[in-house]
Formats: sequence, C-alpha cells, structure tokens
Amino acid sequence: MTAAEPTIGVLALQGDVREHARALEQAGARTLNVRRAEELDQVDGLVLPGGESTTMWRLARAFELLEPLRKRIEGGLPAYGSCAGMIMLADRIRDGVAGQETVGGIDMTVRRNAFGRQVDSFESDVPLTGMGDTPYHAVFIRAPWVESVGDAVEVLGRAESGPNAGRIVAVRQGRLMATSFHPELTGDFRVHHYFADLVRRAMRKED
Ligand code: GLN
Repeated sequence: MTAAEPTIGVLALQGDVREHARALEQAGARTLNVRRAEELDQVDGLVLPGGESTTMWRLARAFELLEPLRKRIEGGLPAYGSCAGMIMLADRIRDGVAGQETVGGIDMTVRRNAFGRQVDSFESDVPLTGMGDTPYHAVFIRAPWVESVGDAVEVLGRAESGPNAGRIVAVRQGRLMATSFHPELTGDFRVHHYFADLVRRAMRKED
C-alpha cells in the first residue's frame, strides 16, 4: 500500500457499489468491497453508496457491521456517503422508519426522501467548494437533504435552482463528507477525486 494509491472500500451490503468502485479507480484508488468487519480493517477510506438506507441499516445490523463502522469512523477513518450513504453518516435523521439507526459521524440532521416529495428524480447544477469553478451537474434520486448542521460542519454545496434552492446537498466535517446526489453516475468524478485526496492526506496525517 503506497500513499499515492490508497485502498478505498465500498460498503457492499446494497446499492450502487460497482459504479462507486469504478469512479474511485478513475480517481487513482484501489478498491475493496466491504461486507465484513475484517475487510473494514484493510481500507484507508470508505464509501457508503446510494441505495436504500433502511435496507442498508438492516443488513449492517445483520452482518454485525454497525458497531465496527462506528468505531472505525470515530477512530478517524475517512468516509464519504452518497444519498442513502449520506443518511448513514448523519448523527440525526428525520422521516426514518421506526427504529432506524445510522452509523453517524457528521453533526447534521438529514431528512430522508426530502426532495422526493415533489419529484422522484431530478438534475441540477451545484457549485461545489474546493472542486473547481464549473458547477457540478448533480443527479438526485429520491434524495435526502441536510436540514441543519452543527458548527464543525462545512457546507460544500447547495441546490441552486427550483423550489428547493438553497437546500444543503454537500457537506464535510473533517475526514467525513456526504452528498445528497449521485456523483458515481455522471462520468464527472470530481467528488471522488476530492475524497481520494482527502484519504491520501489522512494517510500522510496531514488532515
Ligand atoms: N431514499 C433512499 C433512502 O432513504 C435514498 C435514495 C438513494 O440513495 N438514491 O435511503
């Protein structure tokens, strides 16, 4: 394992695992599908993909991964959650199913299916801090939004247009980041590059 080529795991319980792995490889990382706690010990960073957070939560429980995930993230493992993965990284959720738990780590409140009440899927340009001057063309699918964030959370992007303009859709807190949208689907891998760089800096203990 070299600093130049981190190994980034993709939580492979459910969701669009393969698309994230491909995007991470484009960003210069090796990838590993993570389904067991031992696999979690082998990665320098972790992506929690989009999918369905209620299913992901149930499977994480069944595979006895919830506690290992919490411990690794508390211990400083860089992690990036997209859509359902954003929900998994939220300290607090709204509109979850009864008893729904998250891994947590980011001091934010995320509302499930928030945009989905108006429209199931849509695309919108989102300017993203630290990821170039061109706004990111973001794809939202039954997406959550971030309702509120604590002081330690940096807002990286907000929806730019439409009735939900101004809603927070991309955040970072230290080594953790999350987006409401699906950057693995568009061929523009700036978000994955940003995360791979974050992982490399964490490996060099610069962040
Ligand atoms: N609505 C889904 C959930 O609650 C997230 C949708 C997605 O990841 N595309 O988990």
